[in-house]
Amino acid sequence: MSPTRLLTVVALLCAALGHAVAADSGELARLLDRAQAAVRVDPERTRQLAEQALQTLGPGPDADAALADQRLRAHLLLCDHHAERDRAAAEQHAAQARLVLPTAARQGLRAMLLTCEGDMHELAGDSAQAAALYEQAVNAAEQARDDEMLGDALYKRGFLRGVRGEFANGLADLRRSHALYERLHMEAHRSTAQAAIATLYNRMGDYAQARHYYEAVLKAQKAAGLQRELAVTQHNLGRVLENLKDWDAAQHAFEAVLALSREMGYARGEAYALRGLASVRNGRGNPQEALALLDKASQRSQGAADERLRAQILLQRGIALRLLQRDADAAMALADALEVFRKADSMAEQALAHGELAAALAAQGDWRGAYQHQAQFKQVSDQLLHRQLDERFATLKVEFDTAAKDKENALLQREKAATELALEEQRRAGRWQKAVLVLAALLAAVLATLVWRHRRTSQRMRQLAMTDELTGLPNRRHVLQCLGELLAQTPPRCALLIADLDHFKSINDEHGHLVGDEVLRAVAESLRDSAREPMLLGRLGGEEFLVVLPEADLESAQQVGNRLRAEISALDVSRFLPTRRLTVSLGATAAREGDTVGSMLGRADQALYRAKEGGRDRVVSLENVAQAA
Ligand code: GH3
Ligand code: MG
Ligand code: MG
Repeated sequence: MSPTRLLTVVALLCAALGHAVAADSGELARLLDRAQAAVRVDPERTRQLAEQALQTLGPGPDADAALADQRLRAHLLLCDHHAERDRAAAEQHAAQARLVLPTAARQGLRAMLLTCEGDMHELAGDSAQAAALYEQAVNAAEQARDDEMLGDALYKRGFLRGVRGEFANGLADLRRSHALYERLHMEAHRSTAQAAIATLYNRMGDYAQARHYYEAVLKAQKAAGLQRELAVTQHNLGRVLENLKDWDAAQHAFEAVLALSREMGYARGEAYALRGLASVRNGRGNPQEALALLDKASQRSQGAADERLRAQILLQRGIALRLLQRDADAAMALADALEVFRKADSMAEQALAHGELAAALAAQGDWRGAYQHQAQFKQVSDQLLHRQLDERFATLKVEFDTAAKDKENALLQREKAATELALEEQRRAGRWQKAVLVLAALLAAVLATLVWRHRRTSQRMRQLAMTDELTGLPNRRHVLQCLGELLAQTPPRCALLIADLDHFKSINDEHGHLVGDEVLRAVAESLRDSAREPMLLGRLGGEEFLVVLPEADLESAQQVGNRLRAEISALDVSRFLPTRRLTVSLGATAAREGDTVGSMLGRADQALYRAKEGGRDRVVSLENVAQAA
């Protein structure tokens, strides 16, 4: 490989490497942010930075949507930059942007493209087409929810609406734009929007208010060093002062614009300043100087595709020529200007041109033409006046409606907050209610358990208190209590048996106390088994048992007694007492009128004693003994 070829390859490699490193979307974004920030301070810097970005990106297509976004931004910044300087270049960048748009991620940039295209139409004097494009731009930004783009589109639409005399709608747009910029902390844009609001006041004929706003904006722009914006605002202030016929102040303002524009190399700004200075000369009756200034203005405006500026220069030229009584030249210039104002729908300037044209034609003796323009002057002036009045009213309405809407919104917000608070409280109360219910249920369950356990315990205690431990039979207290209840009836109908095991002591003595206990249990079981009729069994104590027989008389008591006696003597106790049989003696008695538990027990006990005495293993009653006796 020859040294030159080697060098070429190395250079190409370096270029490729450089390209790869520089074509980083983050870095490009920062570069273009700087370009964008310079728009209102140093337009030339914007152009350089945007072109540098395009160079870095190379010919495309882009590797990803982020890079496409940056390419799109660069083209759009250049479109915006060239729109007022070099229409062909602007159109070329717009066309390129249109090609890149489908591959970009940030679809809000479509609004910027439409805004730039609208701008070009507006500068060419085609307000209708410009308005349609701004409308689309607003929609595109709203759809993409791109607040920055929306601020720009609303600004352009609002400004143009103001130019076309739609003051109320224009003001509404500008206010929205102003609010968006404020929210996005875009200070330079915000003050530009405020300046546009001032311009609108100027068009509505409220010069004093317009002057007040412009002066506020100037302060902000001076502090922020926004050279280009400063020039524009100074110029607009000059226009207001021109309308107020404050020639000294107007001249001061236009001179400041001229100096600033020269400093920035902003030819269009210079042209505007020179036109303003010419207007001041005309106002002061110095048309010769005005013409000289207007020549310079025409020359400086040549690059700019700004039809309205050209027409305004023509209007001042017409006025100067008329003051110099060169009426034919004046009429030509004025007619030319009028055409542009008509197309641009700029009513105030139309009225002015008609008025001047009428005067110029009258001076030439063209009474018919003069009359026609005078009539049109009056018509347009009246129309303008009406529109100003209507729009002022509409503006007040917009302001009132906006204020009312704000209030309504605030009220709704407050109501919503209150409802939410109430709902939250309700929810909290609901939660408490639930907690209380659960706690109450728990408490009820605990109480129920406690009550149940208490009942069970007291039932068991009662049972224990009423039961004989050894045999499980009702104890003495229980049986005697039942007997007492039966004796409370009149007449009392019941009988009583006392059963006493015979020679029980000897069982204990011979076989031990434990065997005695077993025998007692066996007897109790046998008695329980044979308790067929309504009867109540119980242990009286020791080896004595009680049998209460409700509704029974003595005879049936004796029958029961004999049956029990037979069953006990038949009881097989051989496992405890292998050598002996078990017998029992019983004392029986039936209830008598006036009996107590004690009297009845006493009789039964006595009868038992007799049974023991009579040889045991028998049933005895005192009545029978008496009968026998
Ligand atoms: P009688 O035929 O005259 O009735 O003679 P007895 O031996 O049965 O009468 P006594 O009144 O002389 O004796 C009763 C015995 O019963 C005295 C006591 O030791 C015994 N005794 C009392 N209560 C119990 C008890 O709960 N268990 C046992 N094993 N013996 C008891
Ligand atoms: Mg006894
Ligand atoms: Mg006994």
